[in-house]
Amino acid sequence: MRIARFSIDGNVAFGAVEGDGTVDSGDLVLDIIKGIPYADFELSGVKVPLSKVRLLPPVLPSKVVGIGRNYAEHAAELGNEVPDLPLAFFKPSTSVIGPGDSIAYPSFSSELHHEAELAVVIGRMCREVPADRVKDVIFGYTAANDVTARDVQQREKQWARAKGFDTSCPLGPWVETDLDPADLTIQCTVNGEQRQLGRTSDMIRSVGDLISHLSEAMTLLPGDVILTGTPAGVGPLNVGDEVAVTIEGIGTLTNKVIKRG
Ligand code: MG
Repeated sequence: MRIARFSIDGNVAFGAVEGDGTVDSGDLVLDIIKGIPYADFELSGVKVPLSKVRLLPPVLPSKVVGIGRNYAEHAAELGNEVPDLPLAFFKPSTSVIGPGDSIAYPSFSSELHHEAELAVVIGRMCREVPADRVKDVIFGYTAANDVTARDVQQREKQWARAKGFDTSCPLGPWVETDLDPADLTIQCTVNGEQRQLGRTSDMIRSVGDLISHLSEAMTLLPGDVILTGTPAGVGPLNVGDEVAVTIEGIGTLTNKVIKRG
């Protein structure tokens, strides 16, 4: 099931996405959910066309945990070794934006990069999850762009500013709850031109290993998001660009880059 979060007439709701089109094709419908998606819920049967709503970030995470250098070719393209253990960092909840929202180019950077990534959404409060139980705590998957101020990342030892600025974490367009993450195509285009193309099967650490490793250290809450790293091909974003992340079985997350006002 694809679960979107949206606003309509000033109200915010979750809905199950029905139909085969894309966000822009105008033929998708939302069946409004009664209750909240992480707990028991049912479909209301009240349906609204997706074209009549504004899609919001599909989740409200208490935290977004990013994983660096989880694809060997990407580590190599920036001159980095593959780390011995997963390299984890935070993106704050205030960095999250939804499909169609704008990425605001930060004033303190002159080298913004796209990073197309598979995002895992947690469905249950959990800690110390063994790798073979990880699927019990996963709610679903969405597309993410781990937008990074590359010059700031290289200048500053911690990545809080480089990867944590407002609008640096586009998520969406919805959460797919029925998906095997083992071998999916991840693609990034900028103004329609392909920049990144990879497969999740090239991840150094699997989704299961990453969640097990992170939950050893911290409690994960429903709606928390784990970014699983980006394949090779990262590159610059400029004001006016339209960047799209497409993941097989999920859909396309599109955002425009604007000058920060
Ligand atoms: Mg990344």
